[in-house]
Amino acid sequence: MTTVEQASVTGAWELPEEFRMLRDTVRRFMETEVHPLESTLPHDAAGLPREQLVVLQEKARRLGLWALQTPEEFGGAGLSVLGQVVVAEEAAKCRMGAFFPALGAFGGNPPNIMFNTTKEQFDKFAQPIIDGTATKAYTSISEASGGSDPARAIQLKAVREGDHYVLNGAKMWTSHAEKADWGIVYARTGEGRGGISCFIVEKDTPGTSFSRIGVMASFAPYEVHFDNVRIPVENMIGEEGKGFALATSSLIYGRILYVAGPIGIAQTALDMACQWAKNRDVFGGKLADKQGIQWMLVESEVELRAARLLMYQAAWNADLGKDVKVDASVAKMYGTEVAYNVVDRCIQIHGALGLSDELPLERWFRDLRVKRLGEGATEVQRVVIARDLLK
Ligand SMILES: Cc1cc2nc3c(=O)[nH]c(=O)nc-3n(C[C@H](O)[C@H](O)[C@H](O)COP(=O)(O)OP(=O)(O)OC[C@H]3O[C@@H](n4cnc5c(N)ncnc54)[C@H](O)[C@@H]3O)c2cc1C
Repeated sequence: MTTVEQASVTGAWELPEEFRMLRDTVRRFMETEVHPLESTLPHDAAGLPREQLVVLQEKARRLGLWALQTPEEFGGAGLSVLGQVVVAEEAAKCRMGAFFPALGAFGGNPPNIMFNTTKEQFDKFAQPIIDGTATKAYTSISEASGGSDPARAIQLKAVREGDHYVLNGAKMWTSHAEKADWGIVYARTGEGRGGISCFIVEKDTPGTSFSRIGVMASFAPYEVHFDNVRIPVENMIGEEGKGFALATSSLIYGRILYVAGPIGIAQTALDMACQWAKNRDVFGGKLADKQGIQWMLVESEVELRAARLLMYQAAWNADLGKDVKVDASVAKMYGTEVAYNVVDRCIQIHGALGLSDELPLERWFRDLRVKRLGEGATEVQRVVIARDLLK
């Protein structure tokens, strides 16, 4: 029984029925399709082989779990933001939960910036992702000079030459870049915040190359190199110098969705820890009888409830069309920190077994460490909240 269902037993707030039904559909999909498949993969696997992924995606599509973030007018399911977080939270309840929802089964979403492009850009780049014939696209903002303050740190140069822009420099930490058919790249066309522009870069464009960066977790970020890469002007999104505003607006919704996975993972870890504590013998009783253990479990439960409600509130406000910049930062900051701490406690409760690769806990611990940095680090979210408090 999840926290939301427990709350409903006591008459407390619960998700409206349509969202509970959606969550149940995802749960059944996880149990029947994802968990059996995942049990055949290595502990640290970072995704499914392409041929297995295509089969899984087809099954998800038949259930309507496809292109969920894509508005109906563009051929997607047009799910509300609250619906999207409900799906992402439930779909994260597996060993590879920190990756794409349900191992990438629920795909079909171009980056949301594509819903504001020209029709030609949309048809050429976004539509194949919705149709399932192109891979998920990457988004590349960060560079070696920094990710938190891109208005200052972006140094990748884009110089106009006739009907092309010529890109020179490098991006860092771009997730799954080499596997994507194309990506969104932010580059400098002028000085300061108003000197950043946004481009669509196709994988095989001459002068583009990728090198894998080894990181602690099971993620796969890449350095992307640009050596006199010629991008046609029609591949610029929006106007020259308007890239920073585009990046900021696409990150806000991303932050709400980003925290759903960590919350789903941490809930599963907590369920596992409760089960373990009830069965484990220690000092003539069960681990669950010890108040020290109970308090770790209680603290985790309370923090997770709060994190989940902050996330739902941010999603709810987004669906009402409100400005959710601060809501998104609050939810992202609190939720990713809480999830990491909950999994840490759950490892402690499991003892040495918690660190073994027999269980997913130690992998989740590493993956969740990354979530405190990605999509705007905890400190960057604090900056956003503080600016609002003190304005
Ligand atoms: C696995 C992985 C995948 C990633 N995928 C992508 C991707 O797909 N696309 C992409 O563009 N980037 C990606 N990133 C990069 C990520 O977004 C950045 O690492 C992040 O934005 C932080 O930037 P930085 O690492 O350069 O740290 P810096 O910006 O140098 O910051 C260093 C530290 O200082 C803190 N800090 C910054 N400003 C302040 C302040 N005002 N007050 C106090 N502390 C502050 C930061 O929070 C951080 O802890 C990925 C990173 C990882 C590890």
